[in-house]
Amino acid sequence: MGKALIIGAGGVASVVVHKCVQNSDVFEEIMIASRTKSKCDALKEKLDGGKTIIHTAQVDADNVDELVELINGFKPDVVINVALPYQDLSIMEACLATGVHYLDTANYEPPETAKFEYKWQWAYKEKFEKAGITAVLGCGFDPGVTGVFTAYALKHHFDEIHYIDILDCNAGDHGLPFATNFNPEINIREITSNGRYWKEGKWVETKPLEYKEVYNFPEVGPKDIYLLYHEELESLAKNVKGLKQIRFWMTFSEKYLTHLRVLQNVGMTSIEPIEFEGKMIQPLQFLKAVLPDPASLGPRTKGKTNIGCIFRGIKDGKEKTYYLYNVCDHEECYREVGSQAISYTTGVPAMIGASLIIKGIWQRPGVWNVEEFDPDPFMEELNKWGLPWKESFNPELLELDLEKREV
Ligand code: NDP
Repeated sequence: MGKALIIGAGGVASVVVHKCVQNSDVFEEIMIASRTKSKCDALKEKLDGGKTIIHTAQVDADNVDELVELINGFKPDVVINVALPYQDLSIMEACLATGVHYLDTANYEPPETAKFEYKWQWAYKEKFEKAGITAVLGCGFDPGVTGVFTAYALKHHFDEIHYIDILDCNAGDHGLPFATNFNPEINIREITSNGRYWKEGKWVETKPLEYKEVYNFPEVGPKDIYLLYHEELESLAKNVKGLKQIRFWMTFSEKYLTHLRVLQNVGMTSIEPIEFEGKMIQPLQFLKAVLPDPASLGPRTKGKTNIGCIFRGIKDGKEKTYYLYNVCDHEECYREVGSQAISYTTGVPAMIGASLIIKGIWQRPGVWNVEEFDPDPFMEELNKWGLPWKESFNPELLELDLEKREV
C-alpha cells in the first residue's frame, strides 16, 4: 500500500521498524535513515526477508538539502521522524519541499534551551495547508496515545471534560543504579526543568519535582508520582474546549531521584557548555555518553508500565469520572521486538499514526496534534498492535482532589 521513510535508528526507531514490518500490508517498503548507517543496517539485517522491502541510508537530519535529496530518491508517502526533537524543523522543511506527509513523537526543542513548546511547529500550519500535506505532531504514547485517549473520552463519554490528569508510571526495574529509559539528554532535560500545569486558562509554574503524591496504579500498585510539565498539556489545553485543569504526573523511584540530585549538584546535568581540555562540551551530553544506552536496558528490564488519563467532567448533566490506560510488560515487549516498554509504547503509536496517514484516514492538510483526528480507528489499532487499552468508571482519585487541596 505505501512507503515510509523512518529517520533515526535508536530505541524508538527499532520498534517502529519491527512494527512496520509486522504491518507489511500497509508498509510495503521502508527506508531506515540515520546519522550512523551501521545501526540502520543492523536493523535491516535483523528484519530482512519478510514482505516489507527494507532500505537503509546515512543522513544528517539537521541538513535540509540532504533530507530533500533522500526523500526525492525514495519517494515515501510519509516521513516518520524518530530522531531527536532537535531535528523536527529541518525534517518538516524537507517534507514541505518534497510534498510528503510528516509524523513525529516529540515537539521541537532548540538545542541551546530546554524549552518544550509547539509554537515553532504550529507556525508551519499554513505552509502545510498550502502544500496539501499532513503533519501529525507528537504521535508516541505521551504525547500521542494520551491525546487519542482524550479525543475518545470526549467523543464517547463526556459532553465536557473539565479535569485531566495524565499518569505515567514506569514500574520497570533494570537492576542498574542509574539509567534513563529513553535518550538520557532529553529525559534529564525534561525532569530537571520547572514543572507546570494549566488551570483556568493560566499556566501555574512549580519547582522541579516540587509536588509528590502516591497513586495506586492498576496492575502495578502504589508508586510515588511527581508533577511535571509535559508537552501534550499545551495542545490539550488548547484543543479541549471547556477544560478547567490539566496536569501531568510521572513516577520516579527514590533511588533514581537521589542519583539525579547528586548529578545535578555537581553540575553534570547542565546544558551550559564548559571548556574541557581545550574543547567546549555540554556536561549533559558528556553524561549521556557515560550512561547506559537505553537500548541496552531491554534484556534486563522487568515489570510493567501503566500510562493513562483520568478524566472528570459532565455527561448528561451529571458528574462523571473515567480512566483510560494501557499496561505494558517490559519483558513481553523485549520478547516480541527486542526493546523495553518505553520504546515499545512510543514506537507502536508512531507506526499506527503513519499507517492511518498512508491509508488516508488521518490525512488533512495542515499541522495537527493527534487529538484533532478521529480517535476510533487509532483506538482499534492499539488493541491490534500490542497496546490494548483498559477503562475504569470508578478509578481511585488523587489524594489532593479527594481532600480538595490545591497543588
Ligand atoms: P535515541 O537516542 O535512542 O535515538 C535517536 C536516533 O536519532 C539515533 O539513532 C541518532 O543517531 C539519531 N539522530 C540524532 N541526531 C541525528 C541527526 N542529526 N541526523 C540523523 N539522525 C540523528 O532516542 P529514542 O529512540 O529514545 O527517542 C527517539 C524520539 O522519541 C525522541 O525524539 C524522543 O524524545 C521521542 N520519545 C517520545 C516519547 C513519547 O511517548 N512521545 C517517549 C520516548 C521518546 P545515532 O545513532 O548516530 O546517535
